Amino acid sequence: MLRFTVLGGSPAWPNPGQAASGYLVETEQVRMLVDCGSGVATELRAHDPGPLTDIVISHFHADHWFDLVPLHYAHRYGSWADRPHANLYLPPGGRAVLDTVASVWDGSVETFEAAWEISEYDPLSELRVGDLRVSFAPTKHYTTCYAIRIDGPQGTIAYSADTAPIERLARFARGADLFVCEAALADAANDDAGERGHMDAAEAGREATRAGVSRLLLAHVPMEIGAERVMEMARSQYAGPIDLAAPGVTIEL
Ligand SMILES: [Zn+2]
Repeated sequence: MLRFTVLGGSPAWPNPGQAASGYLVETEQVRMLVDCGSGVATELRAHDPGPLTDIVISHFHADHWFDLVPLHYAHRYGSWADRPHANLYLPPGGRAVLDTVASVWDGSVETFEAAWEISEYDPLSELRVGDLRVSFAPTKHYTTCYAIRIDGPQGTIAYSADTAPIERLARFARGADLFVCEAALADAANDDAGERGHMDAAEAGREATRAGVSRLLLAHVPMEIGAERVMEMARSQYAGPIDLAAPGVTIEL
């Protein structure tokens, strides 16, 4: 069993009723949360899937990790106090980030260590997580960010995290059974001023085709663009099955 569930999937200014980035990857051995953006803690509570074994964070923009703050209270003071502690894998420098954040309320990284076994991943190495292998590739974004590839006995999931189109992404996602790709821009052609750090749905479709993936899930899409328009843009570049991230969307591989 390799199951992917959308908990959130909103961009930084969240769509109504939809948390920011947060996805659940489950196998017989693993229940891993990929990103923990604002709103994800309450989603986890609402659809409580059971104890998380692992949490992995792509980058330190608020919409990808802020809910580690409320989520850690679940273990420290809340109803998850008796649950086993998950491993929390942060990007390099992540412990210092948590330390700084908690210092606002006179805490430290130890505040979070009361909830999780915290480590920083080496983006050049593969992480073994139960029956999964997790690997990373730097993206083109406004801060250091890593795409995440998850290989398991049942299949492969590739997650773009946040990125502009970049050569290495298709290589990294090559042959994935499911490609979760961001499509934050309404129209990249009209957004070329300055540094690019995101892509539109047509570009996501193009990356999916280049990578030869079996299935595409569009994420990080502002509702203002419109679901129909987004799907149409992606379809113009990719012939395989396409879904749009929405809370509760589940894909079994
Ligand atoms: Zn970001």
